[in-house]
Amino acid sequence: DAVLLAVDPSKDVDGFHPLNAGRLVAGAPRFIPCTPSGIMRLLRETDVTLSGANAVVLGRSRIVGLPVATLLTHQNATVTLCHSRTVDLPSHVRRADIVVAAVGRPGLVRGDWLRPGAVVIDVGINRVPDASRKSGYRLTGDVQFATVAPLCAKITPVPGGVGPMTVAM
Ligand code: NDP
Repeated sequence: DAVLLAVDPSKDVDGFHPLNAGRLVAGAPRFIPCTPSGIMRLLRETDVTLSGANAVVLGRSRIVGLPVATLLTHQNATVTLCHSRTVDLPSHVRRADIVVAAVGRPGLVRGDWLRPGAVVIDVGINRVPDASRKSGYRLTGDVQFATVAPLCAKITPVPGGVGPMTVAM
């Protein structure tokens, strides 16, 4: 917080200064954090209907979860924001037309949690051990791709989904 307050709000391109975070909540953003901005762009470019949709966001960080939930709300989605104290996470995910997973837990969201036809945005970037890789690890998301991809309407892969969009934004 001390570092964020030391940043000139007019140069705060990450949008993390309280002034810019507040402007985002007020619906008058100056800078939108890049990962949430990329997520909204992905949804828009792929014609996902947001107005009236049930959106479930997993994770409430100031970098991803909170701003995504805010941006979805401003686009007239009905948003449920889940976190580590949420009781019965699968029951919330099951109601979702749109799931945004940003928790940092590899493979947390599984196919049997999902409403068939949902749109799934996997934000997680997790390193899991993989002896077959030279690096000794591979990157995986918060969504169990193998069980979710056959059921959902659209899904972002990890790697190659939200990460490159974050860089682009
Ligand atoms: P944080 O650690 O700041 O936040 C994680 C959030 O997930 C918290 O709100 C936490 O709840 C919640 N959470 C943790 N475990 C569970 C659980 N078992 N069930 C429900 N909720 C849970 O992480 P970030 O938001 O910074 O990042 C999340 C993931 O996204 C990471 O894998 C990160 O690497 C990735 N990421 C990817 C980016 C990209 O460009 N693709 C950019 C930024 C992040 P609580 O608040 O209660 O502790």
